[in-house]
Amino acid sequence: SSCYYKDFPALRALEGELGYSLPPLAYLDNAATTHKPSTVLEAVEGYYRDCNANPYRGVYRTSVASTRLYEGSRAIVADFIGAKADEIVFTRNTTEAINLVAHCFALERLRPGDEIALPISEHHSNLVVWQHVCEKTGAKLVFLHPDKNGRLRDNEMEEKIGPATKIVAIAHVSNVLGTIFPIERIVSRAHDMGAVVMLDCAQSAGHRPLDMKRLGVDFAAFSGHKMYAPMGIGVLYARTDLLESMPPYMFGGEMIDAVHERHSTFEAGPKRFEAGTPNVAGAIGLAAAIDYLTRIGFDEIESIERDLANRLIDGMRAIDSLRIYGNPYPTLDRSGVVAFGVVGAHPQDVALVLDSRNIAVRSGSHCAQPLHRRLGVEQSCRVSPCFYNTPDEIDRFLDTVEGARRTISRRIMSVFP
Ligand code: PMP
Repeated sequence: SSCYYKDFPALRALEGELGYSLPPLAYLDNAATTHKPSTVLEAVEGYYRDCNANPYRGVYRTSVASTRLYEGSRAIVADFIGAKADEIVFTRNTTEAINLVAHCFALERLRPGDEIALPISEHHSNLVVWQHVCEKTGAKLVFLHPDKNGRLRDNEMEEKIGPATKIVAIAHVSNVLGTIFPIERIVSRAHDMGAVVMLDCAQSAGHRPLDMKRLGVDFAAFSGHKMYAPMGIGVLYARTDLLESMPPYMFGGEMIDAVHERHSTFEAGPKRFEAGTPNVAGAIGLAAAIDYLTRIGFDEIESIERDLANRLIDGMRAIDSLRIYGNPYPTLDRSGVVAFGVVGAHPQDVALVLDSRNIAVRSGSHCAQPLHRRLGVEQSCRVSPCFYNTPDEIDRFLDTVEGARRTISRRIMSVFP
């Protein structure tokens, strides 16, 4: 196993119980959620065990400590993505962060005739909310269509991102095709046209360094749970001037300045968007995950993940019965997230065969139904290794998937002899 495997208790959880009959867990569904290292689990438990007070509200020491830990986590997140602390809003996840931008920015500003440009491959959480914005404002969605290798075409970018475009919503890394989109080029075109860019970093955070200033995006979103932190904590990055201009959309405690009987004034900065008691333990867990990743370093993480992706994609290409959706070569503009089908087998059956060997992959539409429709399939399987996986696990996956069709027909034969 990898030298990082041992940091993740849940990867070993089933070993004791089932180890004699099952091979160890090969968890290859990291695009859905990642496991959490012990340091993150200890940080979360330690907060509740040793501190636990509502932040901001009390003058007593644990409340002050709670405030300090929460705000300290905000500063750590900011530093992690090359931003300032007052550009970081804590949310529950990527979905909530994108919804915040849709409600507080897009609904306020878009008019009939305005356009929102986005690739057809977007996750539902970066698509459905924009449909809602269009219904409410009269704006229109304009789709970019990645080619069969999952790439966006320059001429289409210029055609579809124009003077009517007000927002470009795009994933940094596609959760189905695995494409790493050319964000700097898109930002440059969008800004030339006077549009803002909403970047969905759900699949890039934790896998490559993120620098908001270098990417030049106006908004970005990511989820803690996909980068080794707990579920229930996410991040919206918003450029200060944009954030300052946006009204709140949830109202209550912690986000106010002064409350009168019939009107109130609100906090400046990110707290205006964090109504109610926040997820302090989640923020601390996210900061602990960032600390863990930073200690390993992105040079190491990227290098391990690149080697695994090369082995995986080259191995998959060599299997006759297997179809890769997206780029079938492990080029630098492609991550190790790989959607695929096995000819003549239903994706759910393929995933069940893999599960019978204790290999976890995703099957379904991966919250990207319009893309699957364009690919001409209803569902696919998706394999997504990360740095705690091993070459050995990739080989087990390849061996099992190669024999999957045979295994499925043998099972059917045994039910209907
Ligand atoms: N965008 C992308 C590209 C994703 O992969 C995901 C999670 N599958 C999301 C958004 C949504 O993330 P969450 O469910 O944590 O809000």
